[in-house]
Amino acid sequence: MAIDRYPKLEIPQTLAAGPGPGHTDERVLQAFATAGVADHMQSDVLRGLIECKHMLRELWGTTNIHTFAVAGTGWSGLDAMFSAVMPGDKVVAFSNGTFSSIDALTLRIKAATPDELAEDSLNPLAKSVVVIKAEHGESVSEECIDAALEEHQPKWAFMAHWETGSGRINDIRAFSDACKRHGVMGLVDAVSSFGVEAFAIDDYPGVVAWASCPQKGLCCLPLTYAPVSFRDVYIDTLIKNGAYTYVHHPIFEARHWGIIGGQDVEKGTYHRTHSPYAVAAFHESLRLALKEGLQKRAESYRKHEVALREAVTTMGCEVTSDMSSLVVLNLPADLSGREGELVELCRANGFGLWPTLSEPIQVRIGILNQLNAGAVRDIVGRFMDVLLEMGCDVDRARVGEVMDKHFPVDCVA
Ligand SMILES: *Cc1c(COP(=O)(O)O)cnc(C)c1O
Repeated sequence: MAIDRYPKLEIPQTLAAGPGPGHTDERVLQAFATAGVADHMQSDVLRGLIECKHMLRELWGTTNIHTFAVAGTGWSGLDAMFSAVMPGDKVVAFSNGTFSSIDALTLRIKAATPDELAEDSLNPLAKSVVVIKAEHGESVSEECIDAALEEHQPKWAFMAHWETGSGRINDIRAFSDACKRHGVMGLVDAVSSFGVEAFAIDDYPGVVAWASCPQKGLCCLPLTYAPVSFRDVYIDTLIKNGAYTYVHHPIFEARHWGIIGGQDVEKGTYHRTHSPYAVAAFHESLRLALKEGLQKRAESYRKHEVALREAVTTMGCEVTSDMSSLVVLNLPADLSGREGELVELCRANGFGLWPTLSEPIQVRIGILNQLNAGAVRDIVGRFMDVLLEMGCDVDRARVGEVMDKHFPVDCVA
């Protein structure tokens, strides 16, 4: 009898309470799993892509024709966004944590000359790219943005809207204004903010390109699409100078979403194979976001983050983040240095939270798609249990009072 050397993979139900991926919505999983078998050119699939494009424009507050999504995760959308950056292009990149520093690395790779790339291909020191660093736990300041653009007069500037590594919000108003003032084309990593914060792309004319992801604010991990949006000036630059990519070329990619020759057309044409199941899931996640409304969702995130923040502070943790989708914290002093152990303990109990991915080591707890009293109470309870298990002195009753204050028992949040 043949031995089943690889039994069927079973993945248990867990609570994804990290900075992202978020806890995927059941309705999105349902849309993914119940789509009929089809190919990427079937008419309802093509219609779905067109509808997704329109929903994206509505959600993201933009009339940019080149608004669509790139198959994959956040880095896929970011790679498409960075594709217009050519060797030797002058770039100023602001970096204040794990993700913006990877964005800055991507920019150094794209803008490196062949010689610079050959010198150190995995970490090229492109002379034309200036990386301006803010400390972990700090936001990029308005003065720093303006001074850097004034001094370096780059072609492109880059900033992350919400730096998920440290949980810090950067000021895209100041960034957009400075880009306008200095005649610079702004690029923004909006991977963590889209779907969580209510903002409209068209309010930031200095930013010519935006990239996000499916699995954070949209709670749509069945590997789907990374939303992107480009102003015409970006597309004109691309037409003029080109890009060293076929698959992530924004103009080619846009075709499958029915954007051809800078105009909406009725039906997409082949660019690459798309998954009908991913289209169904993505469509559902956008529909749900629109139905709820970003304003309402943003308020709900703020309200729930405040409750989580106060609870962990009451446990003796120090919160250093200001994003509304997660808290980034230092453990109470007597547990300092045991962050990895704590995360492992949580994970062993199906409670998926994360440490920071670069120094200093902190703990990140997220509430993506966990916007109700029960979910936050559950996260707080599980976190408190682990602190107690590790020997930390936590006042259970006081934490309970904090939860009752934010979520009165007779009130359905
Ligand atoms: C998560 C994240 C990324 C990377 O996205 P992936 O989906 O893992 O490819 C990039 N930038 C920011 C700000 C992020 O939060």
